[in-house]
Amino acid sequence: MTQAFIITDTPKVGALADFARTFASSLTAVTLGNVELGGVDKVVRIPLAEGQPAEALAPVLTQYLASQVSPGDVLLAPDTPVGRVCAAAASVALSAPIFTSVQSLESAEETTRLRLSRYGGLADSEVELNTPVVIIADGGAELAGTSDAEEITNAGAYAATISAETAPDGDNVELSAAERVVVAGRGFAEKEDLAMAHELASALGAELGCTRPLSEGIAWMETERYIGISGVNIAPELYIGAGVSGQIQHTAGITGAKTIVAINDDSTAPIFEIADYAIVGDLYQIVPALSAELKK
Ligand SMILES: Cc1cc2nc3c(=O)[nH]c(=O)nc-3n(C[C@H](O)[C@H](O)[C@H](O)COP(=O)(O)OP(=O)(O)OC[C@H]3O[C@@H](n4cnc5c(N)ncnc54)[C@H](O)[C@@H]3O)c2cc1C
Repeated sequence: MTQAFIITDTPKVGALADFARTFASSLTAVTLGNVELGGVDKVVRIPLAEGQPAEALAPVLTQYLASQVSPGDVLLAPDTPVGRVCAAAASVALSAPIFTSVQSLESAEETTRLRLSRYGGLADSEVELNTPVVIIADGGAELAGTSDAEEITNAGAYAATISAETAPDGDNVELSAAERVVVAGRGFAEKEDLAMAHELASALGAELGCTRPLSEGIAWMETERYIGISGVNIAPELYIGAGVSGQIQHTAGITGAKTIVAINDDSTAPIFEIADYAIVGDLYQIVPALSAELKK
C-alpha cells in the first residue's frame, strides 16, 4: 500500500494529485498555511503565524512526515520556491532521494521504480529504490474544492519573519497551467512584430510564450515566458509555435502538449518532426491570416 503526500503552500497541485492517483492507494495533502483544496483523501494543515515565511515550517513538516512515511511512499512538491525548499528538507530528514523529470512511477511493497527523462528528453533511465522518494514537478491547475483538515501544531518552526516583499514587474504568467499557448521564436524580426503573436493568442484565448533567445537574449519578453529545458514546462491542449526552429532544449519543455502546430518558412526545421500540423510559410502572412479567421 503506497501512500502519497503532497507538500504545498498553494492549491495549484492538480497535476501532482493526478499523477499520485496513478500509483498511490492514499493521498494526503500537507499544507503549509491556510490553503483550501479538495480532491484528496486527507488534508493535514500546518498553520503559519503572522508574517512567517512558509519555509520556516520545514522542521515541523519533516517531523510530521517522519512519523508517517515508510519505504515505498512518495512525497510530491510543486516546482515553486517553497516547494523546492520543503522537498529538499524532507529529502534530507527522511534519507529519501529527490527526483525531477519523472515520467512514470510504479510502487509495490517497499520498492519504487521510476522512469526518468534525461538529456532534455533524448533518453530515459529507470531507477529502483527501497526508500521513500521525493519528487518535484509542475503543480498544474488548482485542486478545486475543500476538504476537512486536521491541524497540527507549528511549534518547532524556524524563527523567521518576512521583512519586505516586492512584486515582480510584468504580468503574472501561468504558462504551465495554460490550455493553449502561442509561442514566438526568433522568426520574429522586431519586437514590435510580437503584436501579431499577441493578437493570435488573444483570438485563441491563449497565453503567449517564447523561446529562450527572445527572453534571455534580447529581453523582448519576461523570463517566466520562455519554454524549455531551462525554462517552463508546458502541457497545453494546443501549442502553436511561430518562427520556432524546434531545438531540443525548447521542445523538451513541450513534450506534454497534446496538439502541436508549427509555422516556419523552412520545411526542414526540426519542429516539423514533432508537429501534428505543419504550416510551411512566412509567419508574417500566416499569423495575421489565422487571427483574422479566428475572429470571424
Ligand atoms: C544549455 C542550453 C539551454 C537552453 N535552454 C533553452 C530553453 O529552455 N528554451 C529554449 O527555447 N531554448 C533554449 N536554449 C536555446 C536553444 O538551443 C535554441 O537556440 C533556441 O530554442 C532557438 O530559438 P528559436 O527557435 O526561437 O530560434 P532559431 O533557432 O533561430 O529559429 C528561428 C526559426 O524561425 C524560422 N523563421 C525565420 N523567419 C521566419 C518567418 N518569417 N516565418 C516563419 N519562420 C521563420 C527559421 O526558419 C528558424 O527555424 C538552450 C540552449 C542551451 C545551450
